Amino acid sequence: MHGDGSGDRPDGAADADAARGAAPSGTEAVATRTFDAPELRGTTFHEVRVRSVLDRVPGASRMPFEWTVNPYRGCAHACVYCFARKAHAHLGLDTGTGFDTRILVKVNAPELLRRQLASPRWPGAHVAIGTNVDCYQPAEGRYRLMPGIIEALRDRANPFSVLTKGTLILRDLDLLRQAAEATDVGVCVSVGFTDHELWRTVEPGAPAPERRLDVVRALAGAGVGCGVLMAPVVPFLGDRPEQLRAAVRAVAEAGATSVTPLVLHLRPGAREWFTRWLHRHHPGLVRRYEAMYAAGAYAPTWYQRLITRQVHEFAAEFGIGPAGRGASRPAVPPAGGEAPGHGAAAGPTRLTLR
Ligand code: SF4
Repeated sequence: MHGDGSGDRPDGAADADAARGAAPSGTEAVATRTFDAPELRGTTFHEVRVRSVLDRVPGASRMPFEWTVNPYRGCAHACVYCFARKAHAHLGLDTGTGFDTRILVKVNAPELLRRQLASPRWPGAHVAIGTNVDCYQPAEGRYRLMPGIIEALRDRANPFSVLTKGTLILRDLDLLRQAAEATDVGVCVSVGFTDHELWRTVEPGAPAPERRLDVVRALAGAGVGCGVLMAPVVPFLGDRPEQLRAAVRAVAEAGATSVTPLVLHLRPGAREWFTRWLHRHHPGLVRRYEAMYAAGAYAPTWYQRLITRQVHEFAAEFGIGPAGRGASRPAVPPAGGEAPGHGAAAGPTRLTLR
């Protein structure tokens, strides 16, 4: 449906050229920058102007949403398990440190989204933001793309959800509140565990779990309902009942509307990087992981069910429910679904409205 007449080159190819430094056809400007700010040091930003900012989730996906907006590719939160890593290879970039330190920035995302939402062909569907990579990663402090994106959705009263680990979302609290008065808005914060040692090594660029829970608290206090995606639950490192209970208790105390557990899964791209990390930090677990993930990217069903049941029991103990009972709109996949938080819709199937 929505052909834009912009040629037969997929946008992914255009992004790939941009990442290499060549101006992709049909784009208006490309720049590569670095910044001296401490939080951005060591990162290279490839600024691109894209033809479409609304991505359609592939039809076979089990995601509870059809359209996504992801203003960045690559993520300085640098989670070792992140399965959006694989998509970086599509840009001709390294899926290890390259994913963490070379960030593609869609600088025209807000203006383009506003235009696409105004098209008579746009169905007004729910838009999930930040499902591929985190939209409130450190780059957002510099580029400030999210305020324009939220304003565009607010002004069209278009329902949307945001998934993030970034505390920067609180900068846009007023905008989120305004949007929630106009339409259905769901926010989901990803907190898979509260263990500090695990956080420092497996999510080295992300805010600490308690800072993320502060975000939940602040959103709840401002009347913007916020669920927690408890992802990933990391086998043998973050799955002991007392660890799960402590995490669920902290989530409940923060005022989350729901908690949804997702066990770690390891797709190609993430799997190699995670295995390397495992060899370095927990060599004694390598064989157990090989057995756990022998059949593919997912942990066995029995294990996923066990974790889900335990988390739901703790959630009941502390008075919160699974997603759907409090969150206004789906921001997360179903338990046992495809994505451990970010990394959804990595395949660039796109809406091409003009
Ligand atoms: S899991 Fe999310 S926060 Fe972590 S690196 Fe991937 S996109 Fe960033």
